[in-house]
Amino acid sequence: MISRRNSLPIRLRHLTVGGGAPITVQSMTKTDTRDVEATVRQVQALVDAGCHIVRIAVPDLEAAEALQLIIRRVTVPVVADIHFDHRLALAAMKAGADCLRLNPGNISRREHLESVVALARERETPIRIGVNAGSLPRDYHPHDALPERMVALALEQVRVLEELDFRLIKLSLKASDVLTTIEAYRSIADLVPYPLHLGVTEAGPPFTGAIRNSLGIGILLHMGIGDTLRVSLSGDPLLEVEAGREIVQSLGLAPKGASVVSCPTCGRTTLDVPGIAVRVSELLLSIKEPVRVAIMGCVVNGPGECRDADVGIAGGDGKVLVYRGGNFSHSIAIDSAYDVIAAEIRAVASRMALSHDKDMR
Ligand code: SF4
Repeated sequence: MISRRNSLPIRLRHLTVGGGAPITVQSMTKTDTRDVEATVRQVQALVDAGCHIVRIAVPDLEAAEALQLIIRRVTVPVVADIHFDHRLALAAMKAGADCLRLNPGNISRREHLESVVALARERETPIRIGVNAGSLPRDYHPHDALPERMVALALEQVRVLEELDFRLIKLSLKASDVLTTIEAYRSIADLVPYPLHLGVTEAGPPFTGAIRNSLGIGILLHMGIGDTLRVSLSGDPLLEVEAGREIVQSLGLAPKGASVVSCPTCGRTTLDVPGIAVRVSELLLSIKEPVRVAIMGCVVNGPGECRDADVGIAGGDGKVLVYRGGNFSHSIAIDSAYDVIAAEIRAVASRMALSHDKDMR
């Protein structure tokens, strides 16, 4: 069991972040925010994939106007990503943003910052201070190690908000290097009471980025640190959500969703395990029920893994063995393997949904 760090809770629309609330998974739209239709579509796709909070860039006033139209049409809390211009922060809050991502140190005039914080306090809009190793001022604490410099800057920004009597704060201290990220979060976790947004930033394309984020975020979560997270990937944001959900579920910090186990294959394989596993994983993205699926290449480990699954297949001698509820059911032809397992998965999911509905009545 993971014992989680205590943090002050903040509210983003209907969601709580921190204070022991379930870990939330975030992503960010990659569309042009001024394109309302495309952005709403992407937010909806993220929500369908299981994203809890969506961040949207607000680079100019036109984007802030579009944000208002977008927020009206989505069901998920929206974080407005703002840099430098306090007018964009004000406009985003008036547009209904549920949170700002904003570094107070980036707003040069004190009265501008005060006007932003005053409106955030009035609307109870939390602010995420996002320290990013890549954008630390070059001459900032030059003799300290990078994690210490990140922590110093985060504390400085926190103090600015606290001096303005504002405490609806969330913090992130992201670096592209996994060990730097872990060290920065580990240090700040003992120094402030605020919830922490985890992530390894600029982590690379999906394969590399998912590994780096899984390590950085996973190790911190296992230490009990972290309240919300984003897996940053140079790629499809749906993959960010998929990876984020897998991290929290693998650590037992969220109920298991639909999941698949598949063997690595070897010289005994009689089935296209990799191809079927990829197609099944894609199918499971649309399944809300916690269906467990096993796809195994032969009967050496096949029956064992299938015993723990709701639906399973294992390669046999010129055929494929189908398992239901852990027990062998029947054999099918090899070339019908995907179609059969997909139908079995849908049938199990429907039965689960039906029994869930009955329990709720
Ligand atoms: S289940 Fe069979 S095919 Fe798959 S890796 Fe194990 S021995 Fe090889």
